[in-house]
Amino acid sequence: MTPSRERLILGIISFILFLLITYVSFALSSGRPQDQLHIDLIATAIISFNAALAFGWLAFGEWGGVPMTAAAVILALWVVLRAGFYTQALLTLSFLVTAFIGHGYIRIKERIEQVYMLKIEKTEEETNLFANSISEKDKVIGSLEEKLSRYSALKEVTEALSTVLSLDAINELIVEKTGSTIGKDARVLLFLVDMKKQELMLSASKEVHRTRAKKGDVFDQWVLRHRKSLIIEDIEKDFRFSTGDVEEARQSFRSLITTPLVSEDKVIGVLRMDSKEESLFTQDDLRLLNIISDLGAVAIQNALLFSRTQELAIRDGLTELIVRRYFTERFREEIKRAARGKNELAVLMLDIDNFKEYNDKYGHMAGDLVLKHLARVLTAMTREGDIVARYGGEEIVMLLLDTDREKALKAAEAIRKRVEAEPLVLRRQKTFVTASVGLSVFPRDGMSEEELLRAADERLYKAKEKGRNRVCAG
Ligand code: GH3
Ligand code: MG
Ligand code: MG
Repeated sequence: MTPSRERLILGIISFILFLLITYVSFALSSGRPQDQLHIDLIATAIISFNAALAFGWLAFGEWGGVPMTAAAVILALWVVLRAGFYTQALLTLSFLVTAFIGHGYIRIKERIEQVYMLKIEKTEEETNLFANSISEKDKVIGSLEEKLSRYSALKEVTEALSTVLSLDAINELIVEKTGSTIGKDARVLLFLVDMKKQELMLSASKEVHRTRAKKGDVFDQWVLRHRKSLIIEDIEKDFRFSTGDVEEARQSFRSLITTPLVSEDKVIGVLRMDSKEESLFTQDDLRLLNIISDLGAVAIQNALLFSRTQELAIRDGLTELIVRRYFTERFREEIKRAARGKNELAVLMLDIDNFKEYNDKYGHMAGDLVLKHLARVLTAMTREGDIVARYGGEEIVMLLLDTDREKALKAAEAIRKRVEAEPLVLRRQKTFVTASVGLSVFPRDGMSEEELLRAADERLYKAKEKGRNRVCAG
């Protein structure tokens, strides 16, 4: 039951009792001899008066209790005037006791209510604080979950980068993983520094819109120069860049994050993300970009090292021509390709004539120079795709793609003449060498690299037999 409804009921009861009291009072005071003690009426009066008073206090508090006590006392006096001293004394005393109890009860009730309210307020306050801390913790949990997913994405980046060794694949992977890890609808660009020209070159990109600057813009140059990351919320509001620079860039983007790729203390590139939306990127995004660029720089460095090592393994140190083992592999592939395309393929085997004598006369170092020089001349004489390799000591083998016997003979003759005519100046003295060439052609002289090489070698031997400085094609 609600407190107000409770009060209403108590009030009604109190009122009814009051009517009863009034009736009893009249009954007591009318037509009875004054000296007689009317126990029945007095008892009824005491009970009803006191009950009325008690309910009055309960229903209306002091505002009801005090007037009702006063009214009861007046009524009692009025009754008593007729009912005699004992009745008077009893009634008055009982009224006062009830009033006193009622008053005390109200006070205690108020006090209890006050304490209770305070407790409720305090509990509410604590509940609010608790709810706040829960929502804050939820936020923290949310951001931690995001961090966790980003870091597990980074782990994937590391793993993916460690499985790839080709530079192009690594560049593509860096761009792809940057996009997926940072997870924003933005353009990703990777520029690498061209070490010869010392300028940035676009190496890979994830395009949301078209990329114009293949060599990087002012923002990339800034990163390259300062070796620092850059975050721009809105390029139009950034004081570091002039309006002229911004004018051109604003067509393509408004906000960006960009960071240098540093390896062995050198900036080897710039990784960047930009968007037409302003303030798209957060410091956390930039941190991630930094991590990816660090991982990327290591992977790129590894790829470069790997390709350099591979080069070392396949190239001869003196002449910089490819070595025999690698040549044989390439030769096999080229035969397959020629067979598929029904093309011919020419092999020239070249050996310097009397090179032992040359060495003896001018020294081994001079002989080395001849070989080096010859390698450069022969490479320059072949077309793109043709292969020149150091086959043995001073034997050079050449593969001429899509070349029939006739063309090969012409080429071999041109080479022979060129070697004969090409002087090597030693201590201001011109020296000359000649070479003999054996020639074989796929498919007429053989179907495998072994057969073709054997045929060319046999013909080279024949050229030597016939007096050197000549081409033999069988
Ligand atoms: P020919 O071929 O005309 O029969 O006579 P040759 O004296 O050239 O004989 P051969 O081809 O068998 O000799 C190979 C010589 O080439 C041996 C060595 O003195 C020289 N030679 C091989 N490799 C090198 C090299 O790397 N540097 C120098 N300087 N000489 C080399
Ligand atoms: Mg020789
Ligand atoms: Mg030889």
